[in-house]
Amino acid sequence: MEQKIVQYMAIIPNEYRRKNMDNNINLAELLFGNIDKTPDYYEEKYPPRTLGGAPVTRIGPSPTGFVHLGNLYNAMIGERLAHQNGGRFFLRIEDTDSKREVEGAVELIISSMDFFGIRFDEGASEDGDSGSYGPYRQRLRKDIYQCYAKELVKKGLAYPCFCTEDELTQMREEQISQKLNFGYYGKWAKCRSLTFDEVKRRIESGEPYVLRFRSSGDEQNHVKVFDGIRGELSVSENYQDFILLKSDGIPTYHFAHVIDDHLMRTTHVIRGEEWLSTLPIHVQLFDALGFERPIYCHTAVLMKMDGDTKRKLSKRKDPELGLDYYRSEGYVPAAVREYLMTVLNSNFEEWRLENPEADINEFKFSLEKMSSSGALFDIMKFEDVSREVLLRTPACKIYDEFSSWLLEYDPEFYELFTKDREFSEKIIDIGRSGNRPRKDLTSWRQAREFLSFYFPETFRLESSYPEKVSEADRQEILGRYLDSFSIEDDSAAWFQKIRDITADLGYAVKPKDFKKNPELYKGSVSDVSAVIRIAVTGRQNSPDLWEICRALGEAEMRARISRAQTND
Ligand code: GLU
Repeated sequence: MEQKIVQYMAIIPNEYRRKNMDNNINLAELLFGNIDKTPDYYEEKYPPRTLGGAPVTRIGPSPTGFVHLGNLYNAMIGERLAHQNGGRFFLRIEDTDSKREVEGAVELIISSMDFFGIRFDEGASEDGDSGSYGPYRQRLRKDIYQCYAKELVKKGLAYPCFCTEDELTQMREEQISQKLNFGYYGKWAKCRSLTFDEVKRRIESGEPYVLRFRSSGDEQNHVKVFDGIRGELSVSENYQDFILLKSDGIPTYHFAHVIDDHLMRTTHVIRGEEWLSTLPIHVQLFDALGFERPIYCHTAVLMKMDGDTKRKLSKRKDPELGLDYYRSEGYVPAAVREYLMTVLNSNFEEWRLENPEADINEFKFSLEKMSSSGALFDIMKFEDVSREVLLRTPACKIYDEFSSWLLEYDPEFYELFTKDREFSEKIIDIGRSGNRPRKDLTSWRQAREFLSFYFPETFRLESSYPEKVSEADRQEILGRYLDSFSIEDDSAAWFQKIRDITADLGYAVKPKDFKKNPELYKGSVSDVSAVIRIAVTGRQNSPDLWEICRALGEAEMRARISRAQTND
């Protein structure tokens, strides 16, 4: 198929243009009499940025009340691309669809991005907007869109359409019955050929209308578009007279995107792949308006494994899609970013292994290392990354962050945890040093459960005692442990005492001896230790018991053993 890029202005026949020029100017005045600025005014007001070609990127979330992982994913790309290369990164609120807007949604977007450490150089912020390319909220830009809409009308590239819902439905039915493409195009585009007088009459009589683009594209033509992630794409030219302004004068996404990203001088439009299908409309508009196209970067949709099948993360089924999930579950922002970076750039994990302590921003992010097929979000892997990140986090920082989470989500435990900072930092660090440090903490919610046994108020017997140990032996073990315990003992002396109890009661000191000759023993040292461990921690698994006993202090430890003796 022949591939060519069509110049939209050029294909409108001269004769038509001459005849209609006056009409178009009159029509532009009729529709947009209130608009006195010209595109030149805005071009001057928002001049090309002087950044020596460094990237200018943005996110453009809609204030629907749901901020999702995809928003953060795209924000990280934009933020890295700009900040790594001396560019600018901004936040634009895409609030043209007031039906979907919920109260407080803008604040939610701002605070979510802030929570995840995404810093904007300009754009919408809590105390209004900052930056010289604003306003950064689309609803405040109505005059700007209308100015360009007026220009398109003047050039014969846009026209008002009065078709009602019913008429459009009827048109669609006819198209179905004739097995034709749906939509407003060619001979179906009834309002394309309305005379000026007709338009004037209908407007004066108060008929609502939308403004449509007059497309001269042909589905058979292909347009080449460079995508920063996917490389060169070839898309069918748009032939539909799509809507530029809705009946309330507010633009559609398509028109707002083109005007905003041009005037805000965005160099890279990073957005989800769901916009690929309307890309032909966007490039057509950029070309028709004589704007330089940005580099589009369409990111892969986030997927997850569901059994053996891969599917899109769904708002309804997967709470992990919403950013508020991470906050309320107490996953640290650094872990979420760290994990997303492993999804974003295939070489990140290798870099991290080589630079375990480095700041994530020292990693050189690149678009070339991004995959264009579905990005797999694996919650298990994310949790592994979270554990690694928390292991690298010093206890004093964990204390601070965990405390603020507790204050919001579990005030009762907050009281316990913050009573003695020294104690709390000590228990966080138990088992975290040495060659094989434990990775006990994953999230704050899990940490709250995990650390609960250290506090008398939340201590509970969670595991049952080993079956191999009789009730009488259990009493014996606990009694002898209490009698022999000394807080002065080092770890070796402490363990020797447990071994002595083990041997005296007929259990194997070495578990492998028990395995070899089970008939000779009642069990092994692991069973004896388990009894003490369960009495002290309530659990079968815990960090080093000697360290735990020391951290709890002698009195508390003795109290727990005594309680276990009475089965209380
Ligand atoms: N408002 C659009 C969305 O929420 C933004 C797409 C874009 O970044 O251009 O999907």
